[in-house]
Amino acid sequence: MLKIAIQSKGRLNDESMGLLADAGISAASGSRSLVSRAKGFPMEILYLRDDDIPAAVAMGVADIGIVGLNEVAEKGMDVAEVMRLGFGACRLSIAVPKSVGYDDASWLRGKRIATSYPVILGKYLAEQGLEAEIHEIAGSVEIAPAVGMADAIFDIVSSGGTLIQNGLREVEQVFFSEAALIANKELGEEKLAELDKLIFRLRSILASRGMKYLLMNVPEHSVEAAVELLPGMKSPTVLPLAESGWYSLHAVVPESELWDKIECLKAAGVEDILVLNLENIIK
Ligand code: ATP
Ligand code: MG
Repeated sequence: MLKIAIQSKGRLNDESMGLLADAGISAASGSRSLVSRAKGFPMEILYLRDDDIPAAVAMGVADIGIVGLNEVAEKGMDVAEVMRLGFGACRLSIAVPKSVGYDDASWLRGKRIATSYPVILGKYLAEQGLEAEIHEIAGSVEIAPAVGMADAIFDIVSSGGTLIQNGLREVEQVFFSEAALIANKELGEEKLAELDKLIFRLRSILASRGMKYLLMNVPEHSVEAAVELLPGMKSPTVLPLAESGWYSLHAVVPESELWDKIECLKAAGVEDILVLNLENIIK
C-alpha cells in the first residue's frame, strides 16, 4: 500500500487534500492523526511539516509526497519529481530596501543576506561568482533589513505584497516553485503500479481544471463559423437537432477564453449556450 506524505497544516494542506478528494481519495478519519488510512484508494496518508517531506520520501518513510519544489531543492534530497500539480506557485527572490541604489547582482557582494533557504541562495551566489554572507533565519525573514540584521533578504514571494509592506523591492527572481508529487526512487513493482494509477487520476483532474464544457444550439448557416471558433479536444461534436436546420454543438474550452468565445459565438448566430463544469478528462 502506498504511503503519501502531505503537509499537516499550512498553505499546501487544503489543496493537497482537495486534489486527493477530487481523485476519489479521502482521509478515513476526520481527526488528523499523524497517519490515517485513506478511503477510495489503497493508501496511507502521513501528515508532516513540509520541511520534513523530502527527507521522509527519500528515506522511504513515505513512498510519495506532495511538497513545494522549493523545499525539495533546499533539502537536496534524492527523490523523483513525478509531476507538477499546478498550485502553491511562488518564487524565491532577493529583495533589498527600497531606498538602496541596486543596479545589478554585483551589489550583493560582501552583503549580509537573511534567508530560510541558504542552500538555494548559496548555489545562486556561486553561479553568479559572488561572495556574500548568508544569515539563516527560520521565520519573519522580511523584517531582517529593518531591524539591522541584514542588507538584503532571499525569501518566498507570491504576490509581492509582503515585500511592499516591509519597504522592500524584489530585485532578482532566482527560483520558481509550485507543489509537486515526488516519489522515492526505489519503489517496488507493486507500489509503482499503484503510483501509475494515482498519476492517471491526477492527470485527468489537472487536465480538466480550468476547462468548461459548452453545449449550444446552432443554425445550419452558423455551424462552420462556430466550429472554427471551437477547436475542442479533437474537433467539436456536431449533432443534428430534431428540428431541421439546427444543430447541437459540444466543445471543451479553457475558462480563461470562456467569455470571449461566448461573445464570438453569439455574434456568429449561436443560441442557448450552456456552460458546464468538467470533472475529469480521461484520455
Ligand atoms: P510547515 O509548518 O509545514 O513547515 P511552513 O510555514 O514552512 O509550514 P507554509 O507557509 O505553509 O510553510 O508554505 C508551504 C509552501 O507553500 C511553501 O514552501 C511554498 O512551496 C508554498 N507557497 C506558495 N505561496 C507561498 C507564499 N506566498 N508564502 C509562503 N509559501 C508559499
Ligand atoms: Mg516548513
